[in-house]
Amino acid sequence: MAEIQIKGVAKSFGSYTALHDINLTIQDQEFVVLLGASGCGKTTLLRIVAGLETATTGEVWIGGKRVDHLPPKDRGIAMVFQNYAVFPHLTVFENIGFGLRMKKLPNDEVKRRVERTAGLMHIEQLLGRYSGELSGGQRQRVAVARALAMEPDVILMDEPLSNLDALLRMEMRAELKGVLAESNTTAIYVTHDQVEAMSMADRISVMHQGRIVQAASPIEVYRNPAAEFVAGFIGNPPMNFLPATPQGGGRWAVAGQVLDGPQTPKALKFAIRPEDLRLADHGLQAVAKVIEPLGAHLLVTCDVNGALFRAVLDSDLSVKPGDTLTLAPQSDRIRWFDPETTRAVA
Ligand code: ATP
Repeated sequence: MAEIQIKGVAKSFGSYTALHDINLTIQDQEFVVLLGASGCGKTTLLRIVAGLETATTGEVWIGGKRVDHLPPKDRGIAMVFQNYAVFPHLTVFENIGFGLRMKKLPNDEVKRRVERTAGLMHIEQLLGRYSGELSGGQRQRVAVARALAMEPDVILMDEPLSNLDALLRMEMRAELKGVLAESNTTAIYVTHDQVEAMSMADRISVMHQGRIVQAASPIEVYRNPAAEFVAGFIGNPPMNFLPATPQGGGRWAVAGQVLDGPQTPKALKFAIRPEDLRLADHGLQAVAKVIEPLGAHLLVTCDVNGALFRAVLDSDLSVKPGDTLTLAPQSDRIRWFDPETTRAVA
């Protein structure tokens, strides 16, 4: 069992608080992605779990054992960090096998594991090369292969695919997801790439300014963002927002339209995803500004009552700048946020 528990972890660098009271349990064999914009504290949190950084307060438990005071090598983890320390004077084979030799595994076992993980990362043809001669993306794959070769119970990865081109990155994320699922590894994976997070994670932990704003399945985070930040961060393009004025009885005025919503007397924000809008006879009046044909669909940036609004529409639609479109939001996809707390309102 390799459950990871992060209990009340906070971290300050001088007067700057990088993490505030983080509580997160990663179940045995679960794949959790820490997702957030640059500087939100993802790497710091991962480094604390790894033992490369000490928390100011709080505890880290791995496999039912408190590990805060243990050095990284005694925490039973393998890791891949951004600066992937691959030894330049060793060959790729020697790099991938390094930890296995330290563990004094027999030669044939080392060879078997090195070849298997090199194959998974598509670098089997590089095994004889010196790591110092490799490209950034190749070295990054050596670092991932080296961690996988250890067949760890827990793996921590910080942007392990960041140096790969788009196509290879897509291939590798599927490979990595498959191999981790097969090997029953518990994983924490840091990225700022929401597509990577959505496609790989069992659960996404969205971070913002040193706090976890929401930790839920990818589809839950996408469909039911717990806060405005999540709604604006997840999804490309992100959710649209419009001010909503209560009319009483759960009716709301949104850009001149009356819609059904929650029963509360406070002003709220109406939110809808660009793909949850349809052309209709009744709906929001939108003036098209920019039309981007994206192949599979048309992305139309419009003005609704002075607010920026985006709609993903049928690619066959003929629309030009200045046209007025009537956009009906799909009612079960509408979400509401409290502008004061920025939290979702049910
Ligand atoms: P990125 O995606 O850019 O790596 P991140 O979300 O991983 O960002 P962290 O590297 O965890 O962010 O940094 C969180 C905050 O803590 C940042 O504001 C950073 O400047 C600060 N920070 C991190 N390490 C240190 C340090 N050793 N000394 C001072 N401040 C630090």
